Amino acid sequence: DHIPAADESEGIVPGMDPRPDQPPEADAPDAPLPVMEHFHTLQGEGAHQGRSAYFIRLGGCDVGCVWCDVKDSWDRHRHPLRSVSELVGHVTSTSAPIAVVTGGEPLMHDLGPLTRTLRAEGIRTHLETSGAHPLSGEWDWVCLSPKKFKAPLPELMPMADELKVVVYHPSDIQWAERHAAMARPDCRLFLQPEWDRIERVMPTILGHILANPGWSLSLQSHKYIHIP
Ligand code: SF4
Repeated sequence: DHIPAADESEGIVPGMDPRPDQPPEADAPDAPLPVMEHFHTLQGEGAHQGRSAYFIRLGGCDVGCVWCDVKDSWDRHRHPLRSVSELVGHVTSTSAPIAVVTGGEPLMHDLGPLTRTLRAEGIRTHLETSGAHPLSGEWDWVCLSPKKFKAPLPELMPMADELKVVVYHPSDIQWAERHAAMARPDCRLFLQPEWDRIERVMPTILGHILANPGWSLSLQSHKYIHIP
């Protein structure tokens, strides 16, 4: 394929993939996606905590959170490609009413074909994203968890049904409020202590929620009961 002149001027070596993080067949109805893992479990966090859900964790993330607990997801090339029909078949082989598409950063991929096929099968589509890439896909629920390491795109903030801010340092609360101001009035607001910092940040989170009842606490309940 011809490599555009613009890429050549940016020092792209002829023959290398000029856009390694772009899906090769973004609009193909059954374009495969890199999948790190997929499993039926309970949603552990946020507004739908405790509900039966099928998780699809896609490979690829360029956000780089220092406390990330799924660093193995970052390199999309380390994960096998799976077709949309295969993935949807896994979901529909269970009784899960919800498919949670997470990552990694799932919006590094075109999620239109996957979400349309899931919905055609009567499965609710829930997204977990940092908001750092343009939105694709058709969603019944968007959980946006903004990250300091790569800010969410402003146009994604009104798309969020749920804003979930992971609190690593007490000062993250002010940062959370700035993002809440950009969200829709009906967006659910959650503060979630980073797993390894619960003792340190919980007093600040508790104080903030007691004083600002628009916020709720989210805990990673799946980690307490040792399920994926
Ligand atoms: Fe990890 Fe998610 Fe941050 Fe990516 S956005 S580095 S997957 S926590």
